[in-house]
Amino acid sequence: MPGSIVAENHHYFLVRTRHQPVEGQDGSVKAKDVGLRQQQNTETTMAHAVRIHDYGGPEALSWGRVEIGDPAPGEARIRQTAIGLNYIDIYHRTGLYKLPSLPAIIGMEGAGVVEAVGAGVCDLKIGDHVAYAGVLGGYAVERLIPADKLVRVPNTIDDVTAAAMMLQGMTVRYLLRETYRCAAETILLFHAAAGGVGLIACQWAKSIGANMIGTVGSDEKAQLAKENGCRHVINYRKEDFVARVREITDGKGCDVVYDSIGKDTFPASLDCLKPKGMWVSFGNASGPVPPFDLGILSLKGSLYATRPSLMTYTERRADLLANAGELFDMVTKGAIKVPVSRTYPLKEVGQAHRALEARKTTGSIVLLP
Ligand code: NDP
Repeated sequence: MPGSIVAENHHYFLVRTRHQPVEGQDGSVKAKDVGLRQQQNTETTMAHAVRIHDYGGPEALSWGRVEIGDPAPGEARIRQTAIGLNYIDIYHRTGLYKLPSLPAIIGMEGAGVVEAVGAGVCDLKIGDHVAYAGVLGGYAVERLIPADKLVRVPNTIDDVTAAAMMLQGMTVRYLLRETYRCAAETILLFHAAAGGVGLIACQWAKSIGANMIGTVGSDEKAQLAKENGCRHVINYRKEDFVARVREITDGKGCDVVYDSIGKDTFPASLDCLKPKGMWVSFGNASGPVPPFDLGILSLKGSLYATRPSLMTYTERRADLLANAGELFDMVTKGAIKVPVSRTYPLKEVGQAHRALEARKTTGSIVLLP
């Protein structure tokens, strides 16, 4: 239905936007008279954004102006000050995860300031610093968003940090605290330990006292993972990670394997587990896990398997607030230092995509509108 919140599925929430291409205009279009808007000044309803018109390589990302519009009931409009880059943005750009329609503004995470709110939004006011994760439409200077997907950011956390940590940090929190409840005695294998999710996982596992074994693609990344608290690091480009895990665990295997690599580490990740261990397949950086016979879980030791998503774990408002709240506490007390390794202007997001896909990045990347 035009003009309403259009969809919600297991990958993302969508919001009503009007993305008519208006490149070439000067952006000085004034907002229509909006009774619901709390602010006094009329603001432009146009903003720069990065869209894809079709699935493809980084060249598919195109910078231009779009109409943003005014918030409908239950929505807010925010001016973004920092935008998180995530691997899911690549799945969306390439079409591995299909978008509901094209053209589309991709990007799933950001931080900024509330500019206007729609009817019925009581717990946000203009000027509030907010952040979100998992709501499509992030690569934009301004955007509309369901207000119940926003969380207020404590003033101890700056916007770049907030934009970097929401998606990756909340992911680590649900993986280590909910999907499998890691404790001091837990031995966990975490692939891509020097990535955005990975470096936060190193620090979170350390704060729990868990024994984390991380895999990485270079010696420099190995050093970084260690510095962030990963107890054992394996360079899986050089070493057989299954053999090394067996060696490190005296042949016992791990309680849980967190695998975001997908195709290239399947089924080897299963061989790193103890009997009745849990395989958490949460990403596809090398391509999706191929279809497999469920019997493999029995043959390899009555294993558990799950394929979780942050969207499910934060779908309910109470779960979102609990997750974000614990993450903010961890960052505020210094147990987690959000590892922002680089920023790019939003306009140059294609370069950031190239680096991420080529495994050249470490930690979190932030785009500046
Ligand atoms: P990262 O910063 O971790 O980047 C991906 C890393 O994966 C690379 O740096 C590389 O590290 C490793 N990798 C291994 N093989 C490949 C390959 N063939 N191509 C590219 N990279 C490869 O990204 P994020 O922190 O944003 O995300 C990490 C993973 O977590 C992704 O798979 C993402 O989809 C998943 N994820 C899942 C969520 C969920 O809820 N299910 C939520 C958030 C993220 P190295 O060189 O060390 O091998």
